[in-house]
Amino acid sequence: MSPLDPELLDVPEAAAIRDWATERGILILAHSYQDGFLQEAAHFVGDSLELARKAAETRPETICFCGVHFMAETASILCPEAEVFVPDLEAGCSLADSCRAEDLARYQAHLERKLGRRPVTVAYVNCSAAVKALSDVICTSGNARAVIDSIPEDEPILFVPDRHLGGWLNETTGRRMVLWNGACEVHELFSVETLRELQAAHPGAITVSHPECPKPVRDASDYVLGTAGMLKLARETSGRTFLVGTEGNMLYRLRKEAPQNEYVAAPGASCACNLCPHMQRNTPEKLWECLNRRAPRIEVDPEHARGARRALERMLAIV
Ligand code: SF4
Repeated sequence: MSPLDPELLDVPEAAAIRDWATERGILILAHSYQDGFLQEAAHFVGDSLELARKAAETRPETICFCGVHFMAETASILCPEAEVFVPDLEAGCSLADSCRAEDLARYQAHLERKLGRRPVTVAYVNCSAAVKALSDVICTSGNARAVIDSIPEDEPILFVPDRHLGGWLNETTGRRMVLWNGACEVHELFSVETLRELQAAHPGAITVSHPECPKPVRDASDYVLGTAGMLKLARETSGRTFLVGTEGNMLYRLRKEAPQNEYVAAPGASCACNLCPHMQRNTPEKLWECLNRRAPRIEVDPEHARGARRALERMLAIV
């Protein structure tokens, strides 16, 4: 990536950036795992589903997406007429990288031979456009149960790429989906031992963990929720302490939108910050430069975009 333009290093305040973008018809979207400055600069902050919906409803001409690559691809697929820019093109995702399209195609063919029929492939949104195009329907952590429940019970299902989310769905829906062996490098590191220590230090606290966390962490939690579900629970609760098992920047959003509670980050096994290194690639300086240069731009292979749009629209029709 080219070095930052020295003339653009003097970054305005977050609200001024948002106003600047509004005047130029640029919609800034930010995932809840982005740092506080980027969340403040955005017109909308949300999880993958909320941002995908916002992009599809708003149909802006230009989107600057503060998140990781697959999220910006999704916005581009659902808004094909929009130009989509990202602060850092190399902001990827370990979970998306764990499932390559060519490996998935081979495994689907293997399962079809073994089962005598092709399984329905459900893909968690954290995957590439090429993987989405090979899938029948997409889901997010917030709507995954509804998506699984919409598939007839006698249909075999292959769930990709997160084995922890897939395991939780098998437990809660009673299905026996075949699971891809992928994981998020941030949620994988939450440990039940450190969570138990934190719970002992905060008696009476409510523990919420993301379904991408390993089963022992989920089992030790009061609630297993996607980020939108966490936010809803926090807004509906008052005067409590929450122990939060998800990416560290989610606490910024919780504190801002439900300040009547206290929030404590559940520590990972080897790192207390729980920050996603891929999300952290996006900085205020890169955002400002991206807005000014209208680059780097997200390009999606048209064939992948067509297949991925079909699978995404099936999800949007369910929830
Ligand atoms: S938090 Fe995990 S799933 Fe989300 S972008 Fe980072 S590596 Fe990927």
